[in-house]
Amino acid sequence: MADDTFKKIIAHSKEYGFIFQSSEIYDGLSAVYDYGQLGAELKNNIKRYWWEAMVKLNENIVGIDSAIFMHPTVWKASGHVDAFNDPLIDNKDSKKRYRADVLIEEQREKFQQKIEKEVKKAAKRFGDSFDRAEFERTNQRVLANQEKINIITNRFQTALENNDLDELRQIIIDYEIACPVSGSRNWTEVRQFNLMFDTKLGSVSGDASTIYLRPETAQGIFVNYLNVQKTGRMRLPFGIAQIGKAFRNEIVARQFIFRMREFEQMEMQFFVKPGEEMQWFETWKEKRLKWHLALGFSADKYRFHDHDKLAHYANAAADIEFEFPFGFKELEGIHSRTDFDLNQHQEYSKKKLQYFDNEEGKNYVPYVVETSVGLDRTFLMILANSFEEEVIDKGDGKTDTRTVLKIPAALAPVKVAILPLVKKDGLPEKAREILNTLKFDNNCQYDEKDSIGKRYRRQDAIGTPFCITVDHDSLIDNMVTIRHRDTMKQQRVNIADIEKIIDEKVNMKNLLKQL
Ligand code: ATP
Repeated sequence: MADDTFKKIIAHSKEYGFIFQSSEIYDGLSAVYDYGQLGAELKNNIKRYWWEAMVKLNENIVGIDSAIFMHPTVWKASGHVDAFNDPLIDNKDSKKRYRADVLIEEQREKFQQKIEKEVKKAAKRFGDSFDRAEFERTNQRVLANQEKINIITNRFQTALENNDLDELRQIIIDYEIACPVSGSRNWTEVRQFNLMFDTKLGSVSGDASTIYLRPETAQGIFVNYLNVQKTGRMRLPFGIAQIGKAFRNEIVARQFIFRMREFEQMEMQFFVKPGEEMQWFETWKEKRLKWHLALGFSADKYRFHDHDKLAHYANAAADIEFEFPFGFKELEGIHSRTDFDLNQHQEYSKKKLQYFDNEEGKNYVPYVVETSVGLDRTFLMILANSFEEEVIDKGDGKTDTRTVLKIPAALAPVKVAILPLVKKDGLPEKAREILNTLKFDNNCQYDEKDSIGKRYRRQDAIGTPFCITVDHDSLIDNMVTIRHRDTMKQQRVNIADIEKIIDEKVNMKNLLKQL
């Protein structure tokens, strides 16, 4: 069912010009996508929502735009050259390559699903008197599966902590995990595989000229810490925000724009006094969840997931997970990165990256709390939340389905469609007159083709919050019909009032005021 919805979302994205496969006429490039005419609008609106929430609403946060190419030593210092690896395993029969950790996590998820199945069955049987907690504490089948989850989790975590590749393989063997393609358990050894793309700079050959496409935008912020702090006269605590492309040679590159090889991140590094990082970590967790919830989708679809295993640079980390059509998955990471990155860059660059604290009268390296959200994953989250197939009662005993994208109005690619009822009698001219007043504040579409009903459906399918229909009476009384996407309600209003009605809903200000 969920799988079916996901397929529909992918097909819909293509049909209406949101997302195309990269180089499609050459059969595409795996895990690389292009944003079409409406996708680019939606993406720009998400970026604006994030940027304004960070930079405009916080006087102590500024934004930068650093280059994708950076000095190769940056990635030595950050640890990416030596430790940005995925453990990979190949199936000898299908020749397919998998991430060993993902195979194990999927196995663990199967045990979890068995528990869910038991719970659902019992809930149905017991009806209103069902007590989930009690059931999970006492049901033998649930307990047996929970025990399996605990054992596999323990082994898995220990193997990851010790970087024990043989043990990862052994878990796959012990749990009889089979290749989804060949169905066989004929596995190779587990090997580490670096996720960074490299390329050559200039005409020099050899290792010295190897540079990397950045796998995260954060390092562009760290290496500019002092530039921004000094030129912006920033005092702690302060933040630097950035939106930009990142590249990872992902092996498990599936699930549409969830995991891509070229993607975009919206990251903010918040520099704080050492010792204050935990308080800021909690603050940013809360603030970031609020940013997501302000979009108005169901709160049940979001949850925090605290990391069991911390990256070498972190002293606390949590994800905001969203329930995608394929399950709860990471949407955003909030990490307390300590002074690891700035210290590393001090050491490798031999330049001091410190802060002079006037009150304490001393220099120190600030600590960092980072928020890092995938722009493309946010895009997918919005599509998944917005896509609806509504059954409409037509009144005569018949029903009809309308496909509608209930995108938050402030983010919608097109804000208003202006539709002359017929394409004659001066109605197109009147419609264009209205469009010419609205277009400075709103992305508008003009459409005069097909019946009005069909035109409404086309706008529903791309998420346009308002349609304005100009009819013959409009020429006499200066009134038009305004139709609301979500309720399909129609309202007769004065042309002079349109701007205000639209603005109340689509102005980004109203979204930002909720934060
Ligand atoms: P995952 O565990 O899903 O691989 P990650 O923990 O490696 O993600 P981070 O390094 O914390 O991800 O990156 C921050 C954010 O960037 C993620 O929360 C996600 O939204 C986004 N992101 C990371 N990798 C990709 C990718 N390959 N495609 C699209 N978005 C990504």
